[in-house]
Amino acid sequence: SKEKIALFTIFGGTGDLAQRKLYPSLFKLYQKGYLQDHFAVIGTARRPWTDEHYHEVISDSLADLDADQKDVDQFASHFYYQSHDVTDAQHYMTLKKLSEKLDAQYGLQGNRIFYLAMAPNFFGTIAQHLRSENILTDNGFNRVIIEKPFGHDYASAKELNDHLTATFNEDQIYRIDHYLGKEMIQNITAIRFGNNIWESLWNNRYIDNVQITLSEKLGVEERAVYYDNSGALRDMVQNHILQILSLLTMDQPVEFTEKDIDVEKVKALRSLRPLKPEEVATNFVRGQYGAGDDGVKAYRDEDKISPDSNTDSFVAGKIMIDNYRWSGVPFYVRTGKRLTDKFTRIDVVFKRPVVNIFNHEDVLENDDASTRLDPNILTINVEPTEGFELRMNAKAVGQGFATTPVKLNYSHDAEATAGSPEAYERLLHDALNGDATNFTHWQEVADSWKFVDVIQKYWDEHQPDFPNYRPGTMGPDAADELLHKDGHRWVYRN
Ligand code: NAD
Repeated sequence: SKEKIALFTIFGGTGDLAQRKLYPSLFKLYQKGYLQDHFAVIGTARRPWTDEHYHEVISDSLADLDADQKDVDQFASHFYYQSHDVTDAQHYMTLKKLSEKLDAQYGLQGNRIFYLAMAPNFFGTIAQHLRSENILTDNGFNRVIIEKPFGHDYASAKELNDHLTATFNEDQIYRIDHYLGKEMIQNITAIRFGNNIWESLWNNRYIDNVQITLSEKLGVEERAVYYDNSGALRDMVQNHILQILSLLTMDQPVEFTEKDIDVEKVKALRSLRPLKPEEVATNFVRGQYGAGDDGVKAYRDEDKISPDSNTDSFVAGKIMIDNYRWSGVPFYVRTGKRLTDKFTRIDVVFKRPVVNIFNHEDVLENDDASTRLDPNILTINVEPTEGFELRMNAKAVGQGFATTPVKLNYSHDAEATAGSPEAYERLLHDALNGDATNFTHWQEVADSWKFVDVIQKYWDEHQPDFPNYRPGTMGPDAADELLHKDGHRWVYRN
């Protein structure tokens, strides 16, 4: 049977993440039969809710799914609410009693998943109490799922990890990076290692540069307080972008298993060329949006943002990898808020043919761009479109002989993607299965922070000239110059 058996304890059960992502994802697992009779959920938070009220909240959180009310009620009946202040030891005793009662009632075999959907400054306290109050079982599995951000820099991440590992082993810790739950991010491994034409060209002899863009259209919105203390570099580059980079650049894992993939990702991240402080300004660009048309507010005028904030709402950077495969290939990355549109894409730009036989003499005499063939570009569209695009040169139709760029295009059809699980559903299912392939491991977190810390420190010590980009554009001009000075340009431009 595909049924999974577990008790979920969700810390922060009244919160935004729980209501918007976790409850709908658990419900989908229920609809698909991964959760049946043998599961229960304890939601904990400070508010004094009753089980009845909790069931209404669960039901409301599923409103968009257009599900049968009988199924919804049946599902919600597995949920129990426990008012709980995570700093109060007494509350863990109550939690333990309820857990044991539900274990007996639903036949949960001692399987426990603790989901910490709360601010990370509570993670250490929760983990410590789970141990001291003896809440972990010894007859089933005990796994903890935690959200980003994992630390603020290397030192705080290390401290947080030390707190967690005082209670849990590394193989019990599931650090969520929801990009790793996305269909097309998981597809990177399939494309690379399932196709000889790509894997044989996937190196510095054939690839000219690689571009990773995570673009957001909205401004800072509700997460203002958190974001203003973090910024784009910490919020997006340290985790999502460096994770994507490691999947794009790792060597072939021996087998498609969690352990083998982790080994290769760690090798890739350890090969990032660390920046020296004096190299930060020439390799990384930070930005913050000013006011736009139609009353779009400047970052500094947004609610709960300090009027002299120097937080980066945009970052672009050039990352080099010092190993045999990638030496000399720049990886350009960028992400930001209030850009042209919401999308994620990866552009792999191949080297041009060495000689343009169609325009041979010109090439020998002057190597200007107009006489060169366009490069092949493999674009991986991560979202909202999910698919690939390959740009090639072909003969232009008609009399005479000229070349013209054409595109091969593949995208998942709407029907296939409609039934496909969302990131959180996929990741919760993996955690139930004990499969941490698509979660971040500690060594990856550590190496990513070490790379990012140098940049952040330099920025903290030097005043930026903010604001420096207009809403609805792809960031400051300096982000374009970053590529121009290498003779490159962004494949996606506005
Ligand atoms: P939230 O503020 O909506 O919810 C926080 C929850 O913690 C609430 O249920 C609150 O009652 C509870 N809580 C706070 N202090 C408590 C205490 N002392 N004792 C017991 N309960 C307490 O936050 P959220 O948006 O749901 O985010 C939760 C975590 O997920 C955070 O770490 C956040 O960074 C991360 N995260 C959230 C999102 C998202 O989309 N919301 C995305 C990425 C990461």
